[in-house]
Parts: sequence; structure tokens; C-alpha cells
Amino acid sequence: MGRYTGPVCRLCRREGVKLYLKGEKCYSPSCPFEKRPYPPGQHGRSIRPRPTDYWLRLREKQKARRIYGVSEKQFKKYYEMADRMKGVTGENLLILLERRLDNVVYRMGFAVSRRQARQLVVHRHFKVNGRVVDKPSYLVKPGDIIEVKEESRNVELFKENLERAQERGFPHWVEVDPEALRGKFVTYPAREDLRAPEIKEQLIVEFYSR
Ligand code: SF4
Repeated sequence: MGRYTGPVCRLCRREGVKLYLKGEKCYSPSCPFEKRPYPPGQHGRSIRPRPTDYWLRLREKQKARRIYGVSEKQFKKYYEMADRMKGVTGENLLILLERRLDNVVYRMGFAVSRRQARQLVVHRHFKVNGRVVDKPSYLVKPGDIIEVKEESRNVELFKENLERAQERGFPHWVEVDPEALRGKFVTYPAREDLRAPEIKEQLIVEFYSR
């Protein structure tokens, strides 16, 4: 299955948790999950049988995949990479997802959502260490400099997004200079930094190692 391109608010309702896929709307009272916090569809509110272990693991995998906007195939590749790395597989997986360029652009506040970040990257607005990179899956490493390329600096959207991000505050693992439209990926986030929305990565590991 490829990347989901349908209405994203349905995904939050399906997973039973706010996935923050729509930028500003997610923080406003018009968030559909606030109004209808039950699965979409005709039978969304009916009582469900007790979930199986498989179902719980599957849902956790789908939730993480949806938060980061990654296809099934690519998500599995991340899992395999994480499994080959030293350390705890589930944590490695989350760090790999966090290192994606579209995610870093979002974390730095250039975009209001990972979706928007992906689109901006594909449209070649960003440079990594001085070179234009248009692959959302590019893996950023500590010390990398991400900046809006010169020709795109007058795009008002970046300034507006950065103003909002500044009000909320940036995560500690990135340093952002909003005036220069530039940021540095300082270090990998620790597991405890990635709390919202909550992902139970151990269930994802169990899903793949079943
Ligand atoms: Fe839609 Fe965002 Fe609310 Fe999810 S959290 S239902 S994406 S507005």
C-alpha cells in the first residue's frame, strides 16, 4: 500500500488519537477529532469486540506510519534498518523516522505539518549543507544545516510558519535562526523527547517479528 492521500482527519479518528496531521487546525476547536472522537463510518460508534494482540500491534504500526506519512514498504525498510543497528530496535526506528528531511523541516517550523513539509521539500525549496535536496526521505544527521534556498526566501509562507513555531517553541535537538531561514540539526532526539502523540514502539517491533 502506498502513501495515503485521502482526508487525513479520518486517520486520527481511526486510530483514536490526535495525530496532528493538519497544522494549525489540530490546535483549534474545529479539529474533527474533538467533535467526533470515534472511528469514521456507519459503524464507527458501535461497540467493538475485545481487540486481539495482532490488532493492537497492527494499529500501533499504522499510527506511527500515518504520523510520519510513510508508505508501508518504506516503513518496513526502516524497521529492517533499525533491527540491524546497535541498540533497541524500537527506539532506533523512531530516531530513523525523526531523521527524515520532511520531519526535520516540520520540527524546525518551516512547515505547519509533515505533509506540508513533504510538499515543500519535493518542490525543491530546501538546501542541506548547501545543496538542494528534494527527497523527503533524506536522512539528516547531527551537524547538518537545513535552509530555505535563496530563490525561495521571499515566500511568505516560511515566515508565517516560523512565527507560529517560535510562539510554540522549538524542540531542543534543533537550533533555528528564523531571520536567516536556517536551522541546524544538533543531535538525535532521545526516546523521552518523542512523547506526543504517544507511540508504543515495542508493539511495532512485535508486529514485524511475529
Ligand atoms: Fe484533523 Fe489535526 Fe484534528 Fe487530526 S488532530 S483530526 S489531523 S485537525
